[in-house]
Order: sequence, then structure tokens, then C-alpha cells
Amino acid sequence: MTLPTTRLIEKEQIAEGTMAFRFAKPEGFTYQAGQFADYTLIDPPETDGEGNTRGFTLASAPYEPFLMCATRMRDTAFKRVLKDMPVGTELTLDAPYGSFTLHHNIARPAVFLTGGIGITPVRSIALQSVRDKSGHRIFAFHSNRRPEDAPFLDEMVRLGESEDSIVFVPTMTKPEDSERAWEGETGHIDKEMISKHIKDLTAPIYYLCGPRSMVAAMRSLLKDMGADEDDIRTEEFAGY
Ligand SMILES: Cc1cc2nc3c(=O)[nH]c(=O)nc-3n(C[C@H](O)[C@H](O)[C@H](O)COP(=O)(O)OP(=O)(O)OC[C@H]3O[C@@H](n4cnc5c(N)ncnc54)[C@H](O)[C@@H]3O)c2cc1C
Repeated sequence: MTLPTTRLIEKEQIAEGTMAFRFAKPEGFTYQAGQFADYTLIDPPETDGEGNTRGFTLASAPYEPFLMCATRMRDTAFKRVLKDMPVGTELTLDAPYGSFTLHHNIARPAVFLTGGIGITPVRSIALQSVRDKSGHRIFAFHSNRRPEDAPFLDEMVRLGESEDSIVFVPTMTKPEDSERAWEGETGHIDKEMISKHIKDLTAPIYYLCGPRSMVAAMRSLLKDMGADEDDIRTEEFAGY
């Protein structure tokens, strides 16, 4: 099977050390909000032991006319090439994959507990849900050290302010290190923070997304809060 190619349209810094990349959507390509894609560099100028392919969540919503991924720009060959890539460069796209997608029963709220770059599927899912008027109530808790580190912060805050169905709760664990004033939540996501917004902690379907350590910490928190294992869905970003 020949995989489709896509090409870079635009790149943008969206938080400190964090970039978003927009790609052309191949004709006929469809996906569900929350799914991911494997991107492969074609004849890159350098490579390393981890190879030329990475999986990134499609942070774009399916209705948007482009594909987008966002990532922390660590010093690996793949990311150096991605960062320096001229607009128009082609990559191979193997997608869509994954089942980190919204549940069907709209009587149950969706509660996302995310850290750092783990916000990528939330952007896609929240925007698509609003667009479709899906009827879901979405609560997204997003933990970062400082506002400067939080990808899509302003966009998600605006979405939460404009849409009754979306409650966005960003929290900063090191606001004292920030040059930006912060009046929102501080500290790690915990039972008290979640309970301010969710009265019945057994009602939601929980979605955990981010680096492996974050997902493990949130799973253990939910267990202590009495959530049922069957109501917890996870997407671990291996490699962090
Ligand atoms: C479903 C899915 C969705 C993802 N979505 C995003 C996203 O939206 N944004 C984002 O930034 N990242 C995402 N990731 C993680 C991404 O694929 C990269 O692993 C990550 O960005 C680190 O890449 P790197 O080039 O910095 O480091 P790498 O060179 O990939 O690896 C750094 C270290 O991690 C180890 N490692 C790499 N892959 C694995 C693995 N699969 N299992 C165990 N160890 C591994 C390597 O051996 C190495 O020691 C996602 C991963 C998955 C599985």
C-alpha cells in the first residue's frame, strides 16, 4: 500500500520550546477528533537511532481544512529536521490511528486530565464537539509549570469563555517562575480542584493524556477518588 504524502504549510511557536506544524490535508483524508498520525521524514538531512517516524496526535479538528500537530522541540534528529524544514517539504502520512475519541453517551461528562503537550487531543475534540453541537459537556484540566509553557492556552481559555459546554481549567505548578501574571488555579490537579467543577465524581468518563508519568499520576488520583477503571481512557505520549 502506498501511503499518502502531505506537505508542510506553516510552523508556529505556540509555547516555550513548543511548536505547531500545519500540513496539507490529503484529498479524501478523514479522521476522528482525538486520533493520531505517524509522520515520516522523506530523505532527511540527518537521522538518529529513533528513526524518521514519529506519532503525533492530530491537534487539528476534523472540520478544519488542514492537519496540525504540536510538539515539544527536543534535541533529536527528527525534531531538528522538522523545525528547520522549509514550507512545502513533503512527509509521508500514515493515519488515522487510535481510539482516544469521545464517548457516545452525552449524559456522561467528558473530563480530560492533561499535562503539557497532552492538550493536543483536547483541542481537536473540544473544537469538533462545539462545531457538531454534539451535546457533550467537556471539562478539561490542563497542568503546566507556567503559562509560557502551556500550548494553546489562550485559544482554550477563549473557547471555555465562549462555549457553555466547555469548561477549561488551566493550572500552573510554578507560577512564581513566570513573567506573565497568573490569576488562575495553581498547583497540581487534585481531588479538590476537580470537585469544584464535578459534583458526582463517578459520573464522567475520564481521559488522561500526556507524558507517561503524568498519566500514571492521574490514574492513581482517580483510583483514590473512587472512579471506576472502566471509565478511564488513556493516551500515553511515549518518549517524554
Ligand atoms: C498515540 C501517541 C500520540 C502522541 N502525540 C504526541 C503529540 O501530540 N505531541 C508530542 O509532542 N508527542 C506526541 N507523542 C509522542 C511522540 O511520538 C514522541 O515520542 C515524543 O514527541 C518524543 O519524541 P523525541 O523525538 O523528542 O524523542 P525520541 O527520540 O522519540 O525518544 C526519546 C526517548 O524515548 C524513548 N521512546 C521513544 N518512543 C518510545 C516508545 N514508543 N516507547 C517507549 N520509549 C520510547 C526513546 O528510546 C528515547 O529514549 C505521541 C505518542 C503516541 C504514542
